[in-house]
Amino acid sequence: MTTPDRTEEDAAEATLRPQTLDDFTGQKTLRENLAIFIQAAKARGEALDHVLLHGPPGLGKTTLAQIVARELGVGFRATSGPILQRAGDLAAILTNLQPRDVLFVDEIHRLQPALEETLYPAMEDFQLDLIIGEGPAARTVRIDLPPFTLVGATTRAGLLATPLRDRFGIPLRLQFYTPEELLLIVRRGAQKLGFALAEDGAEEIARRSRGTPRIAGRLLRRVRDFAMVAGRPADRAMADGALARLEVDRLGLDAMDRRYLRRIAEYHNGGPVGVETLAAALAEARDTIEDVIEPYLIQEGLVMRTPRGRVLGEPGWRHLGMTPPAGFAI
Ligand code: ADP
Repeated sequence: MTTPDRTEEDAAEATLRPQTLDDFTGQKTLRENLAIFIQAAKARGEALDHVLLHGPPGLGKTTLAQIVARELGVGFRATSGPILQRAGDLAAILTNLQPRDVLFVDEIHRLQPALEETLYPAMEDFQLDLIIGEGPAARTVRIDLPPFTLVGATTRAGLLATPLRDRFGIPLRLQFYTPEELLLIVRRGAQKLGFALAEDGAEEIARRSRGTPRIAGRLLRRVRDFAMVAGRPADRAMADGALARLEVDRLGLDAMDRRYLRRIAEYHNGGPVGVETLAAALAEARDTIEDVIEPYLIQEGLVMRTPRGRVLGEPGWRHLGMTPPAGFAI
């Protein structure tokens, strides 16, 4: 329920998506900087420099990319690293762009290395080198591209090859949202859905959304379902009951988060334990653990990443209702 990854239901998210930079709550510094770069590029009549957005899933990378295109008044094309298989796929997209368009590449860290190399001259000089034919008859043709803005999104900037990372003039990092920011997002979301959500109900959802707007939107829709079926006002008690049923605890952690914490506490005495060991024990991909589960737990101090592995923090022990073993150093 609280995985911030996309699900089919996310089509419903379109309703809640902010359309302009002003409508986009939170990420204050990032938003202010972006507004200036957009204004400057527009004044010069040039394509905006390439933008790299990085941060955990569900924090608004896709939303921001769409907003950038809208604020620039240019077209928006979207694709993703794993979808692009051959250089031809990328060439087809690039050659179809209009001048100054935004091309959004989600999960850009999963781009094939060969395609990455095609991208370098395209990003730097707006040129595409294509190899035509095979064997001795093969030759390279150079195609001029319209100037465009590549907006890349990734869950971790460290996953990107350095030459690719260096070609983004505007790297921006998204942070988890504060409960106050999430409260604004939840209130606005309820308004857009025409849902009479009491203030204390909104606070409860905001506090338990794991710092993530995508989760806030999802919890909001579920609480609306429960309130509607129960025929009762959507206040704190209603929200609390609904979230408890969804196994979202008072910190907003879900069953998977708790399994992860409990594993470290119960099987490894609080750690340190390597991420591979945890991934195997929990039957989860290492990437999911590192990109989806851990960032929020680390930010909240529930767990720590050390050179020797993951270690449970004091708040982690407390949250599980356990005490660290004697001599356990946090
Ligand atoms: P990402 O691409 O980082 O995974 P998205 O841009 O798809 O995340 O955002 C997920 C959902 O969260 C969006 O549909 C949008 O409704 C909501 N959202 C994200 N950021 C904000 C924000 N700052 N204000 C309001 N809603 C937001």
